Amino acid sequence: MKKLGIYVQVPFCQTKCTYCNFHTGVVASSRFAPYVEAVCREIREHRQLLKAAGVEWTGRLGRSGPDKVGTGAAPLQRQRETSSEELAVDTVYIGGGTPSLLDPVHLQDILDAIRETFAADLAEVTLEADPETVEAAKAAAWVRAGINRVSFGLQSFADKELIAAGRMHRRVDIYRAVPILREAGIRNISFDLIAGLPHQTNASWGQSLEELAVLAPEHVSVYLLEIDEGSRLGKELLQGGGKYSAGAVPSEDEMAEFYEMAQEALGAAGYHHYEISNWAKPGFESKHNLKYWRREPYLGFGAGAHSFSGTERWANAHDAVAYVSAVQGRRLPVEQHETLTAESALEEELFLGLRRLDGIDVGRIERSYGVSLANKIERLRATGFLERDGDIVRLSADRLAVSNEVFVALME
Ligand code: SF4
Repeated sequence: MKKLGIYVQVPFCQTKCTYCNFHTGVVASSRFAPYVEAVCREIREHRQLLKAAGVEWTGRLGRSGPDKVGTGAAPLQRQRETSSEELAVDTVYIGGGTPSLLDPVHLQDILDAIRETFAADLAEVTLEADPETVEAAKAAAWVRAGINRVSFGLQSFADKELIAAGRMHRRVDIYRAVPILREAGIRNISFDLIAGLPHQTNASWGQSLEELAVLAPEHVSVYLLEIDEGSRLGKELLQGGGKYSAGAVPSEDEMAEFYEMAQEALGAAGYHHYEISNWAKPGFESKHNLKYWRREPYLGFGAGAHSFSGTERWANAHDAVAYVSAVQGRRLPVEQHETLTAESALEEELFLGLRRLDGIDVGRIERSYGVSLANKIERLRATGFLERDGDIVRLSADRLAVSNEVFVALME
């Protein structure tokens, strides 16, 4: 049986971090229960809701890629006709936002709705959590609900950086939360770090990496600070202002150096670098997130959640109030509904596939899409962006920090 991932979006936070460009809000806790009720209804009635919204979802897997590229923008019709494998849910990812703010009963309700609606054999159930929200009773209830992986929005061990970024937790909360989770039986913990927070220096970043290695989570994600209009800090930086410690944000070169320090420190601590931003102890690669990079199907529930059937992509509207009222009225506020063309499917194969350090099988892709990528790949290999080993092509290890440049060159 083929596998399906489920993502549940909880768009609520206690405060808005200065660097955050997500569609999340700080709301009264009285809004949590109606939101969870709407998510459970969306899960239970997804077939009817999707059908009414014009999305074809059969619960079977569409395969991408057999049409020839260059024949125009023909939708991948043939894929749907030839695909008939049933899907069973094996991964659930409850993200946000800060879903650990919810009452554990709400999380139990969501997971019950999934188990009642789908064929489910849940190997990996992840909850995103902020360290200050962890308590022993809550952690025990999470485990009883079936959560077996916790992804911590840690970002840094330096209080000065956490304060400047508008985070609620402090270093001491991290040291308090991890033993609580271990005690509750969570054997798979992931830490997120951000390279490039205001006031970060070589020394403080090195210290965060050292402290992380001592706490020994099974999985680590390292993201470079994103500077765009979508966050208060990003806007301030783009306008040359000084609010939110914008003047203390490290340069791009420093961020690239921090990334390289992380590569070295995490490798030395026994982590396997398997995706541009992700490292894992052996066997602890994120099963759910691998689906995104392998273009495997997933359904998203909640405001702003994205879905991929193998042939179509769609997303719910972001506004949580509008989402709840639409689902209460038995409508799904679907937007960005796209049936993939062969060209866009090929772009995704390259763009998403090359994020994995295992690389892509160019021979398979060329055969599937009826294209030759030889010239393009040779050009990028000659300039040091890509490495080639037979049919396997991967990003060069020393270009991972500037992978966006490689992707742009690849799409030219
Ligand atoms: S906790 Fe995460 S989602 Fe919420 S505001 Fe901070 S960065 Fe954004």
